[in-house]
Amino acid sequence: MNTSYITIVKPDDMHLHLRHYDMLDFVLGDTVKQFARAIVMPNLNIPIINTKLAINYRNSILNALKNIKGDIKYFEPLMTLYLTDLTTADEILRAKESGIIFAVKLYPHSATTNSSSGVIDLFKNCSKVLEMLQVIKMPLLIHAEVFDHRVDIFDRESVYIDKIIIPLRKKFPELKIVIEHLSTKEGVDYVYSSSSFTAATITPQHMLYNRNIIFSGGLRPHYYCLPILKSEAHREYLVKAATSGDKRFFLGTDSAPHDIKAKENNCCCAGCYSSYNAISFYVKIFEEAGCISNLEKFASFNGADFYDLPRNSQTLTIYRNENVVPSELRFKDLTIVPLASGETLQWHV
Ligand SMILES: [Zn+2]
Repeated sequence: MNTSYITIVKPDDMHLHLRHYDMLDFVLGDTVKQFARAIVMPNLNIPIINTKLAINYRNSILNALKNIKGDIKYFEPLMTLYLTDLTTADEILRAKESGIIFAVKLYPHSATTNSSSGVIDLFKNCSKVLEMLQVIKMPLLIHAEVFDHRVDIFDRESVYIDKIIIPLRKKFPELKIVIEHLSTKEGVDYVYSSSSFTAATITPQHMLYNRNIIFSGGLRPHYYCLPILKSEAHREYLVKAATSGDKRFFLGTDSAPHDIKAKENNCCCAGCYSSYNAISFYVKIFEEAGCISNLEKFASFNGADFYDLPRNSQTLTIYRNENVVPSELRFKDLTIVPLASGETLQWHV
């Protein structure tokens, strides 16, 4: 394909970390340039565990939006609640009635950044909540990794699917489940074998790289994310799934900004900052797979359809334009190293 530009319905980012305060001001502009809406993750330092906190967080995002320069006509943050062992079914109903909360996020206890309030025993403590989610058709978003030191880090997703998702699905056959940042062949096969009540987001990094990049010439903290990057066979399998046009796979960057001090550290935080070039990455992946005609389904339709949201009416144009990803981005006293820093991309928003 040699066209010089592509126009698609404006995409949604169905998995995004916007953080708070200066970091929010820093990163929000990158997302609104490329996306009409985003599912905003609730794992702040003080997790968003109820509707009131979600309303406050949404207001701070809308305030940050006012400071963005340029022609931003519209951006809608789609808020989520952080599920804990203490979340009640009433809180879920309140969330639904607020009209601003679109999903509930399940973090296994201690699995990733700010997950120390995560669920310890889903089946024992959260049955009423799960029942309510099924009734009101609100998706449960799952960080699908067991956090067990006896389980190899590369197997944590497939073990989680066997141990938690398969029994969960048996108990709640019509619960909407999104397996977030799908990273394995086993995960893809599980989604293929499921009904339309199961879907998955796929990040750019899990399709651009295999795990060798983490160790190429030394230890590279900016490629460390959770789930951790997998082997080449898994990467190829994910690309096939994402670019297939199958309704159950959609775009979620899991863009997770950390200041450089937290990444280049004795104990580096997990997360890649992919928002800066998110759409360019996905165009590259779809073009290389020879499936550019399925990009719009993956980026703009499948997610909205799964969430029962109207498809966006604006469009986004991406131009063929060689550009080098900056080595660092700076704002106030924060510095972020974006995903693929120093690499040359062929597409630009
Ligand atoms: Zn995430």
